[in-house]
Amino acid sequence: MITACSTMSAAESSCTDYRFSEALIPHVRELVGGRVRERVPGSSLSTFAIGGDVRAVVSIESVGELSAVVSLLAKEGQDYRVIGNGSNVLFGDGPLSIWLLKLGSGLRRTEVREGSELEVFGAVPLMSFARKVSSEGLSGLEFAAGIPATIGGAAFMNAGAHGAEICDRIVEVRGILRDGTAAVWRKHDLPWAYRRSGLPTGAVVSSVVLSLVMGDKARISEACAHNLAERRARQPLALPSAGSVFKNPSAERPAGMLLEELGMKGFSVGGAMVSDLHANWIVNPRREATAHDVVTVIEACQGRARTAGVELEPEVRLWLGDQAKT
Ligand SMILES: Cc1cc2nc3c(=O)[nH]c(=O)nc-3n(C[C@H](O)[C@H](O)[C@H](O)COP(=O)(O)OP(=O)(O)OC[C@H]3O[C@@H](n4cnc5c(N)ncnc54)[C@H](O)[C@@H]3O)c2cc1C
Repeated sequence: MITACSTMSAAESSCTDYRFSEALIPHVRELVGGRVRERVPGSSLSTFAIGGDVRAVVSIESVGELSAVVSLLAKEGQDYRVIGNGSNVLFGDGPLSIWLLKLGSGLRRTEVREGSELEVFGAVPLMSFARKVSSEGLSGLEFAAGIPATIGGAAFMNAGAHGAEICDRIVEVRGILRDGTAAVWRKHDLPWAYRRSGLPTGAVVSSVVLSLVMGDKARISEACAHNLAERRARQPLALPSAGSVFKNPSAERPAGMLLEELGMKGFSVGGAMVSDLHANWIVNPRREATAHDVVTVIEACQGRARTAGVELEPEVRLWLGDQAKT
């Protein structure tokens, strides 16, 4: 049985007792020029288009604001999380009483560093950034064509595809620790793994420094087009989803292949369905699915995989909300 805690990192696992104090709203507002929205539908924050109200969403426009907000929330013992583009998050159907930090346009910029290194801030959309640098003849992000992440989310998740991962290109990650202090991790300071950066609990990525290499423009754009075409042929990109739901248990038998062999394509509960195109994707085709529907489909897939001796671990982050606390 999936609970609110079951697939969360330690950073997200305050599921038994969310700490959110109303009294702090004016103080946080003061730190961010008023940009606190209350009771924001999770469905508007996630590519799954599912989810009940998030108590407070704080829009962060600078590293200084990020530091001030995180340090206040930490000092007051509040639960916070950070959201990027919401392309790997399932919100629950009920309310979620946390502070949700969202990096805004002030952190959607890039600075050129030495050589071909670029500092890319956390709110930059990975897809359009990859398209831009590729069109300029910089190689290294061809794999990212079609991944609807922010740079911060991609770094946290160590997003990857076509045999490459963002950590391959990372020189350093810059962020704010849970106590509000700034931190810099050189690439080898972090235990990068498949869909995992190993960033410490509560850390928020403010920027990453990427190393890209000059290459042949035509070959780079050919690789991007090829990756995108492959994605379009195999993945239901037009439907609300969070991409792959499960981590691949092995390279030889990825989750999609396993679930297809086990007959899960087309399996549906309420408005949620295992895609006909790719069995590791759960889609919300009519935008009517509840989180409960999705979780029921996830559990059915896990149950079926168990019959084949495989334990499937969700890749998607389950932020199931107050009602799922116990
Ligand atoms: C159509 C589609 C295709 C996809 N294809 C791929 C693919 O090929 N490869 C792949 O790896 N993934 C893929 N995904 C999943 C998703 O895009 C990635 O996991 C991505 O890295 C999530 O980025 P995000 O900005 O949307 O993060 P979110 O979904 O908003 O958050 C995901 C996690 O990252 C954390 N996070 C977000 N921003 C920050 C930050 N600034 N600092 C610290 N933590 C942060 C969140 O707290 C959360 O735990 C796909 C998803 C979709 C919908």
